[in-house]
This record gives sequence, C-alpha cells and structure tokens, in this order.
Amino acid sequence: SRPVKISVHLHPYGDGRKLLLSRDVTALEQAEAMRRDFVANVSHEIRTPLTVLTGFIETLQTLQLSTDERARYLGMMAQQAARMQSVVQGLLTLSRMEGSPLPGMAEWTPVRTLLQRCEEEGRALSLLLTQGQPATQTLYFPSDERMRQLGEIAGVPAELQSALSNLISNAVRYTPAGGTITVDWQALPDGAARFSVRDTGPGIDAVHLPRLTERFYRVDRSRSRETGGTGLGLAIVKHALQRHGAVLDIASVVGKGSVFSVTFPASRLRGAVAVLEAPAA
Ligand code: ADP
Repeated sequence: SRPVKISVHLHPYGDGRKLLLSRDVTALEQAEAMRRDFVANVSHEIRTPLTVLTGFIETLQTLQLSTDERARYLGMMAQQAARMQSVVQGLLTLSRMEGSPLPGMAEWTPVRTLLQRCEEEGRALSLLLTQGQPATQTLYFPSDERMRQLGEIAGVPAELQSALSNLISNAVRYTPAGGTITVDWQALPDGAARFSVRDTGPGIDAVHLPRLTERFYRVDRSRSRETGGTGLGLAIVKHALQRHGAVLDIASVVGKGSVFSVTFPASRLRGAVAVLEAPAA
C-alpha cells in the first residue's frame, strides 16, 4: 500500500469552536516531485552539451590550432548545439500538445501516404547509419498495392507521421547492422487497425518497459546519444497517439528484438479494403 499524506488544518471560530480541515495531499506532492524531477532532467540535458561547448570555445580562444583542428572542433561544437536544439524542440512539441486539444479540423489522410513517408525516411536513416559497416539492415514494408487498400485515417497528419516515423527510426537506430525491421499495418476484425514495427535489435528488459515513454528515460544513455537520441521520442509518440485515441503497446525479448505496435480505433478509420494477407516477413 502507498503511503498517504494528509494535511490537517484547525480553523478557529470566534465562539471557541474549531473546524478541523483535512485534505489528502498525496497526489499534490507526487505531482510536485514529478515537476522537480522534470526540471532537474531538463537542466541536466541542456547543461551537458553546454559544458562541452564552453570547453571547446575556451580551447579555440586559447590555443593556436591548425585549420584542420579548428574545423574538427567546430564540427563537434555544431553537434552539441544540435543536441541542445533537439532537446528544446522536443520539449516545445510536448508542451504544445499538452496545452491544446486536438484541433477540430482533423484531416483524412491516406494511410498509404503516411507509410510511404515512413518507408522513405526509414530507408534513408538505415543507409546513413550502416554506412561503412560490413552489413546493411533489411527493411520490410507493405507492398504499394497493399498500402493502397488500407484506407484513410483522421487526425493531424504531421503528428501521425512523426509518431509512426519515430517508431521506425528507433528500430533502425537500435538494431545493429545485419538486422531486420518489419513494418506492417493490419486491419482488425472490429474495424480498428494495428500498425507495428518489429525489429531484431537488442530487445528491452521487462523492468524498463513501463517507464520507456517517460521523458528522458533511456535504457542505455550512450547508445541513445550516439544516434542523436534525446530520450523524448517515445514520450512525444505516446502523447501524439493518445490524442488520436490510439494505444501504444511494447513487447520485447532481450537478445531477440522488440515490437512496437499502435492500435487505432475504428472511429478514426475509413475506406479500408478488408484483406487479411500475411505480413511481408
Ligand atoms: P531516445 O531518443 O533515447 O531514442 P526514446 O524516447 O525514443 O528516446 O526511447 C527511449 C529509450 O527506449 C531509448 O533510449 C532506448 O533505450 C529504448 N528503445 C526505444 N526503441 C527501442 C528499440 N526499437 N529497441 C531497443 N531499445 C529501444
């Protein structure tokens, strides 16, 4: 059982009687603790690259460097600045979503449009990350013909796109060269649909799963950073999906890989041709 914190206040009346006011402040204190954690996390995420940047600036100011060395330092500085930028960008995205309900002018977008973009981005990122490695990754997507049968989805296209693309980019980033990533979209019998990204990456231990969508939560900090991660990706994905009535599920086996799946409610879907075909892999 959780500890409960009660705040008690004795309110005196002029006639000598007293009113006892008690209030359960457990939730309040929890919210406050979360807020403090969050501020500490943000500060840390910004301070680390800032410290590195400051160090490089000092070096450039005090040392006589060759043109090559200067270029190398400036490159590393640009990297740190970019990291700070993605943290701030991610935080702004989150706070924008938190502060506003889903706009009423949600559009219908062909699922095919979203998946095609996912495919372009996923393949490009995979090429980039496996450059110079002995093996490439294999990516499977539904065929174009199949994509055409998936109908349309209602929502904010940019948010849907970024949520789906983000799951694919995680799979690509965390799966070693030689691995396989399988993206699929399946119509469910009740009119709902499930988007899934399966990878043959390192997998995630069950203890981490419930916390994975928390802001700044990462299983392996250095691996995340190497590929440009901020730890905000899944928090944004979950939020964007929730706004669309969709649910994110994560299943994973360490050493085997992970499956991130998103179930969209029937109310946001239309026009799918009912086909039950085996996924590509
Ligand atoms: P990050 O920017 O660190 O990737 P995310 O919020 O996208 O942040 O993901 C949180 C953490 O979840 C990652 O740091 C990583 O440890 C883990 N993770 C996410 N996707 C995968 C995946 N496909 N395979 C293994 N681990 C993953």
